[in-house]
Amino acid sequence: MAKVLCVLYADPVDGYPTDYPRDDLPQIERYPDGQTLPTPQGIDFRPGVLLGSVSGELGLRRFLESNGHNLVVTADKDGADSTFDRELVDADIVISQPFWPAYMTAERFAKAQKLKMVVTAGIGSDHTDLQAAMDRGVTVAEVTYCNSISVAEHVVMMILSLVRNYLPSWEVVKAGGWNIADCAARSYDLEGMHVGTVAAGRIGLGVLRRLKPFDVHLHYVDRHPLPAETERELGVIRHTSVEEMLPLCDVVTINCPLHPETEHLFDAELIARMKRGAYLVNTARGKICDRDAVAAALESGQLAGYAGDVWFPQPAPQDHPWRTMPHHGMTPHISGTSLSAQARYAAGVREILECFFDGRPIRDEYLIVEGGRLAGTGAHSYSEGDATGGSEEAARFQGGPNVARPPLAR
Ligand code: NDP
Repeated sequence: MAKVLCVLYADPVDGYPTDYPRDDLPQIERYPDGQTLPTPQGIDFRPGVLLGSVSGELGLRRFLESNGHNLVVTADKDGADSTFDRELVDADIVISQPFWPAYMTAERFAKAQKLKMVVTAGIGSDHTDLQAAMDRGVTVAEVTYCNSISVAEHVVMMILSLVRNYLPSWEVVKAGGWNIADCAARSYDLEGMHVGTVAAGRIGLGVLRRLKPFDVHLHYVDRHPLPAETERELGVIRHTSVEEMLPLCDVVTINCPLHPETEHLFDAELIARMKRGAYLVNTARGKICDRDAVAAALESGQLAGYAGDVWFPQPAPQDHPWRTMPHHGMTPHISGTSLSAQARYAAGVREILECFFDGRPIRDEYLIVEGGRLAGTGAHSYSEGDATGGSEEAARFQGGPNVARPPLAR
């Protein structure tokens, strides 16, 4: 019998939904590169319902309990007195989502003597100290591709919303105004602009493909080049370094994982190399950008806009400067947790657990760490080390005006 400890975000303020705006989800057979969607032996949820919050339980309870396992679900994840910390000591498996991450620091690994596997219900395992996982022989897995297209769609939305000055114009309407000049004074067309992505992996390539019809000039940097045929089809130019690409771009989108190589990549010096008035969209990880350098660049006009959904730590404290800096389009971390994405990553987690319990290999593309080293996708896209430093600050989050109290563990 295994103890599975699952950290999920709180239910909606008004309670777990009883109905939804739509009745079904589109059927998708494969991801764009041909990879199959998750293939668990079964699922115990209706695709399209809220699975990522505490009451949704990633649809895992019936499966786990009917196989004799113990499932503990909580949103109370930060601080030494948290439910998560108390339950961790005898947990065999920890599951959490990057949107509301259980920061698995080296200290927490040391407490969790029985721990065998850490699963990211989503993509991006930077909230886990990968070095500690390697040192302790703990497997780390994530559901590769489950929400890459969800994020690519979100990136396009955020680029357009910044360039066209959408959010401030929406605010004018909400306030009962008709101030066209105020809206138009910061509004441009995307057409003809130079747009660069830092990384052209699943999300980065998805963004390039979606932007192509907007008649923009496309650029990228990545450790591995795209196939020459793809470069030709998209007319995208590869640069050998971020430093080389940035001065050419009107819009930059960050789509690489957070690992020691990319931590604080966008600091004051790098942002100073960008064109004055460039837009920066970061849905990858908050820590890839220097928090104060971004706020200062918006104040000075070096950046015309910054948008994204990723912060550090998460949840972000009330006084995080990205909540109040000018010309931002920040949201909580939501791009990869649409109801569509949730159905895929809940099924992916179920597949990973089934493999683990049956002693079958977990798909290579889902592996980040196995057998004491980076493996699968981890070996391709991550570097060794730890990017969880500073995560204890998440305990400072006190809840906001419309934030539900953290639910009790179930
Ligand atoms: P992929 O693994 O498909 O792509 C990551 C790409 O980043 C790879 O092509 C990798 O290069 C490249 N890369 C790694 N390090 C560098 C570097 N130093 N410089 C340039 N490129 C680099 O992952 P996805 O595209 O699916 O996801 C990317 C990231 O987006 C995730 O790790 C996660 O942090 C974030 N994400 C955010 C979500 C959200 O809800 N906001 C949801 C999902 C993901 P190569 O492999 O060629 O070495």
